[in-house]
Amino acid sequence: MTNVFPSQHPLVAHKLTRLRDIRTDPKRFRELVREIAALLAYEATIDLATMPREVVTPMAPYRGVELQEKIGLVPILRAGLGMVEGVWELMPSSEVWHIGLYRDEHTLKPVEYYNKLPIEPTVSVCLILDPMLATGGSAVATTDVLKRWGVRKIKFVGLIGAPEGIQNMQAHHPDVPIHIGVVDDHLNERGYIVPGLGDAGDRQFGTG
Ligand code: URA
Repeated sequence: MTNVFPSQHPLVAHKLTRLRDIRTDPKRFRELVREIAALLAYEATIDLATMPREVVTPMAPYRGVELQEKIGLVPILRAGLGMVEGVWELMPSSEVWHIGLYRDEHTLKPVEYYNKLPIEPTVSVCLILDPMLATGGSAVATTDVLKRWGVRKIKFVGLIGAPEGIQNMQAHHPDVPIHIGVVDDHLNERGYIVPGLGDAGDRQFGTG
């Protein structure tokens, strides 16, 4: 798999195991989603462009850098919401643009219900945030929206992926790197990732 980056980090593996555990309550689940999202975003942003910036330390002038890119975080509602805070702590000047999609239970295809993007793009890089890359339908549709908006650099950041979702993303958007905590075994007939963690939205919001 090219352009797919499963995390190799033991902290991510440890926290994902806690996250999957059926005994993990919504409060701890939300904390873990936030923490893992931050770790994955750290890995996903390794190639962000920087530009020179000089500062003066108490000892001497220093030629450093600052981020050149304007970053947009794009959580896919609703499960992606829980990932925002963790990533935002690392990149507090990021803009957050919400995209609302739900999966039609029968067709399993994404239906867009919320999109307030302005006409012109206001960011140069977008991180799509969605915990579960299952069929890949929402990730593909969101990437379509962002490309139409005019964003050229897009990355997907998710906690658990299914091989089917990764293949779907790569078939439609091979240029979009997939940063994923782990790749699981398969999707079941209802579109859930196995072993996965169940419904990431329900487990965050206590609605399961
Ligand atoms: N969405 C979820 O929340 N869980 C899955 O396993 C698949 C899609």
